[in-house]
Amino acid sequence: NGSEKKRLRIAIQKSGRLTDETLKLFKDSGIKISSNRDHLLAHAENLPIDILRVRDDDIPGLVMDHVVDWGIVGQNVLEETTMQRDLDGMYTGFNEVLKLNFGDCRLSVAVPMEEEWHGLSDLEGKKIATTYPHLLRRVMKNAGVNFRSVLLTGSVEVAPRAGLADAICDLVCTGATLQSNGLKEVETIYTSKAVLIGRDQPLFPEKQAIADMIIERFKGVMSAVESRYIMMNAPKAKLEQIRAILPGAENPSIIELEGSSDRVALHVVSREKVFWETLEQLKALGATSILVVPIEKMLG
Ligand code: ATP
Ligand code: MG
Repeated sequence: NGSEKKRLRIAIQKSGRLTDETLKLFKDSGIKISSNRDHLLAHAENLPIDILRVRDDDIPGLVMDHVVDWGIVGQNVLEETTMQRDLDGMYTGFNEVLKLNFGDCRLSVAVPMEEEWHGLSDLEGKKIATTYPHLLRRVMKNAGVNFRSVLLTGSVEVAPRAGLADAICDLVCTGATLQSNGLKEVETIYTSKAVLIGRDQPLFPEKQAIADMIIERFKGVMSAVESRYIMMNAPKAKLEQIRAILPGAENPSIIELEGSSDRVALHVVSREKVFWETLEQLKALGATSILVVPIEKMLG
């Protein structure tokens, strides 16, 4: 029907660790979504975009089966699903559209705290509980270690204590969950972040135009996050030194200061975080009225 040609359909996680950041990215990009979380399908109020809210496990398949145009999902789930679909003889084509700046985590092997650890070969013949059997098997195969996987889609971290497995292979962010379950992280086998993926088929031109615009907005939001606008008054004689310590800065604007021949105002966009140490160095070089302000939006 007509809406399929015109409205960009995006699958996102309904509720979980990617949801808040995904919705914030949409909001910061000017995509207004009606807020009823219970509905599977939501429409953007101001753009031809439909949002499908699903379990994250379903997102790669929805893209690969061409049911949606885009999906936002963790690389861990994307790769695991791809390997499973390959085995099942299902189609696995997709495009990575954009890496996103959230959802960072790692897939790690953990063993009971009191156990010694020499390397993956310690797991020869052992039982390992995981939600990601294919990612784990790939690494173990390369290491030449035989093991048995115990598939658990939740509560993986209690498996050793419950006597279900000797070790686990699970997602870790801070490591606090492992520690509180008497486990220690011994080997990272995969690092992951959230990605925007798209179906590997050309979109209708009208939809492609929307897609291109949204990609630019997403990039703009992400680069604005760390960027700062830095302003200061500085001695002309120290400009070279000052420019040298400004982090990730482009060419600054130098503005004459009325009634001052040896000092100028300097304005610059820094694409990196600005630390106190940098400000202290600037001050030591004679800069005054140093201001660092956040940037809300950035384009081009
Ligand atoms: P769903 O109900 O949608 O299937 P889930 O329980 O499978 O949700 P979540 O725990 O919400 O999944 O995690 C979703 C994704 O968020 C993970 O696959 C991973 O890519 C990412 N992630 C980011 N930080 C973490 C973390 N600290 N622990 C686990 N996953 C994380
Ligand atoms: Mg899931």
